[in-house]
Amino acid sequence: MAIPLRIYITPFAERGAREPEKWSCDTAKKALNVVNTIWSKAKISFVINDCLTDKPLDMAKSARNNDQRLLDVLSSRHNPDNAVHIYLVNSIENLSAGGSSYLNSDPEPASFVQWYGDDFANGRAWAHELGHLMSLDHVEIDYADERQAAALRNNLMTKGLSVGSDLTSKQMDGAKGSKLVKRFGG
Ligand SMILES: [Zn+2]
Repeated sequence: MAIPLRIYITPFAERGAREPEKWSCDTAKKALNVVNTIWSKAKISFVINDCLTDKPLDMAKSARNNDQRLLDVLSSRHNPDNAVHIYLVNSIENLSAGGSSYLNSDPEPASFVQWYGDDFANGRAWAHELGHLMSLDHVEIDYADERQAAALRNNLMTKGLSVGSDLTSKQMDGAKGSKLVKRFGG
């Protein structure tokens, strides 16, 4: 059984002026294909149950780069229900993370994901955020340790912007044993 996602495409606005939204339900679907390719290694899959365009979020550009705060604001707009809530937003200046998530879905399974302009980059960032919801933290690369660095450089859970989508067997087991997967299947 695939884990159900409820997509909220959320346009930004500033002082009432709505900004054109880059995401659409179609680009969300294409990015989700990338997500599912990445997570198929762990035999975990996701399905879009609903895709809605939300009312614009009026927020100054300078306030958007606090990822935890933005996640709190977005997730407070909808009560938790029987699906994972994914908020898709335009690119945010000065935000090095691809989005933000509640680690291990605590207090609720919700993430936001920035727009990167192509299906692979969008899907990779999204897959990374889902990793956090399934209990995975960032991997720290020790560049002094060449073997470790080589093994982890292309990992999905490296911090910041990366193109890696590898998962270690420990990460796959961690995700499969997470409370999100236990609750929804996967
Ligand atoms: Zn992260």
